[in-house]
Amino acid sequence: MNGYKKLGIRKLDGIVISHFHDENLGGILSVFKKLDVQKVWDPGGEYDSSLFREYLEALKAKKIQRKALRAEDTIDWGNELFIEVLNPPKFQPSFFSQNDRSVVLLLKYGLVSGLFLGDIEKNGIEEVLRFGNDLSAGFIKIPNHGSISSLDYRLFQFSLPSTAIISPEKECGFGNPDPKLLSYLSSKSIKVFRTDESGTIKIRIFGNNQQDFEINVDQR
Ligand SMILES: [Zn+2]
Repeated sequence: MNGYKKLGIRKLDGIVISHFHDENLGGILSVFKKLDVQKVWDPGGEYDSSLFREYLEALKAKKIQRKALRAEDTIDWGNELFIEVLNPPKFQPSFFSQNDRSVVLLLKYGLVSGLFLGDIEKNGIEEVLRFGNDLSAGFIKIPNHGSISSLDYRLFQFSLPSTAIISPEKECGFGNPDPKLLSYLSSKSIKVFRTDESGTIKIRIFGNNQQDFEINVDQR
């Protein structure tokens, strides 16, 4: 949160919420308190948790617009930025877990693409793999805290990223990221940034070529 203040940001045009698990929705209420948020995008539907109910109440109290995202939607964040939604699918099978319903975004700015995979697991990954070579990305946000249940090498074979961002869960101690994932990334010379080691990770995109972006971290 201090990061926003330092950057002089008081208002956010919108926030994308990947899905409704507590660790993903948790920080959002304090964001609503401190910043003027116009709109939220999320996977839609309901979720049975007290945090989700608080979330809906806060949206109502602050008159924040809520919109559900579906595969093939695009989000308009200005002319220069193209954002396509790759998941959840238009018709979500009931067996999809909350993780598999995660919003997945492909962001393009100039010649740089970034892939944000939420916490998708097997089913969500199958949905995303349909996009094949369109998944090509300079950087990729690894799904589900780097856990083994979300490790599918085909994601990397299509996206061929130079950089991977992992957000392991410090407190839960699930042993994430999985050592198999880390050794795969190092065998492919993919640079790794981890929120548990580096704190907030900021990506600045210039877009003149596919690798024309820089990553800044709080601490090293
Ligand atoms: Zn989750």
